[in-house]
Amino acid sequence: MEKIKNILNSGKILKLICGAGNENYKEIEKLSFVFASAGFNMIDVSAKLDAVNSAKLGIKRAGRENDAAICVSVGLADDIHLKKAVINMPKCTSCRDCINICPQNAIFNEDKKILVDEKKCIGCSKCLSECLNGAIFMEHKYKAPYTMLLPLLSENIDCVEYHCSVSDEDIILDNWNKIKSIYKGCLSICLDRSKLGDDKIILLLKEMIKDIDDIIIQADGKPMSGGADDYKSNLQTVAFAEIIKNNNLPARVILSGGTNSKTTKFAKECNISVDGVALGSYARRLVKEYISSDDFFSDEVKQKKAINIAKNLADELKKYL
Ligand code: SF4
Ligand code: SF4
Repeated sequence: MEKIKNILNSGKILKLICGAGNENYKEIEKLSFVFASAGFNMIDVSAKLDAVNSAKLGIKRAGRENDAAICVSVGLADDIHLKKAVINMPKCTSCRDCINICPQNAIFNEDKKILVDEKKCIGCSKCLSECLNGAIFMEHKYKAPYTMLLPLLSENIDCVEYHCSVSDEDIILDNWNKIKSIYKGCLSICLDRSKLGDDKIILLLKEMIKDIDDIIIQADGKPMSGGADDYKSNLQTVAFAEIIKNNNLPARVILSGGTNSKTTKFAKECNISVDGVALGSYARRLVKEYISSDDFFSDEVKQKKAINIAKNLADELKKYL
């Protein structure tokens, strides 16, 4: 508990999102190693034992067991973060457009069929909008959040994040209460404004966080939209953070959804004071060239280059927190 308290109290939460649905465990180990080495203090992984163990290995390689936390993501069936792409074969013309756009290299061609590697897919939906033939749909292989958490309770995880951007408040609260009943550590709520109006969201958050000491609200802008390094991508997350801050909710507020190297600077220039930032697609893309290689852990030059890139990003983000 002391580790996560120190991170929360620092007001400089730097979280690397490996992807709530990411089951590419070697990639998780490499990402955890690179970003923990670079000064990120939280690694967010899917609620799978192998994902947690891979993050632990990466953090250990970085020598940061005492100050880099592991956050485990669970979520509701309709939340975008937990979905996976599926190809509808009869509609697919094998044009390969989706293969070229996938940031996770999760789509491949085998025996003239286009297929998705479920373990690599993080559900970002980029292929969905790229396919002009409507041959891709997103599917959630749903398991209730508390069911996902049960096998992880003895694993020394530092934080549990609940993805709950759905329109049914009763479902949100019911699952939240079940999570709270089995997990007593730091909790994080990740949601965006697409399903509920601002007033409802604030009332809901007030209800969810009452009586909790260590709580993070992750103001998700446009979920999983990161990639570009511009100010515009940060508009939604900063706007949402402002609404939360204006309501004086007793929680640490961090930014996500479209985040990049300009996020904290943009928030500061908007006079929005936040406790940190979570980066996914943008950060992963920066080091993809290095961590994609099979010999990454035996190639110190690649490791140093990847860590250097991640450290420049961490330093830039911290400057404005
Ligand atoms: S973009 Fe659509 S049609 Fe083209 S290969 Fe992918 S799934 Fe098939
Ligand atoms: S583009 Fe995104 S949703 Fe589509 S297969 Fe790749 S990771 Fe999955």
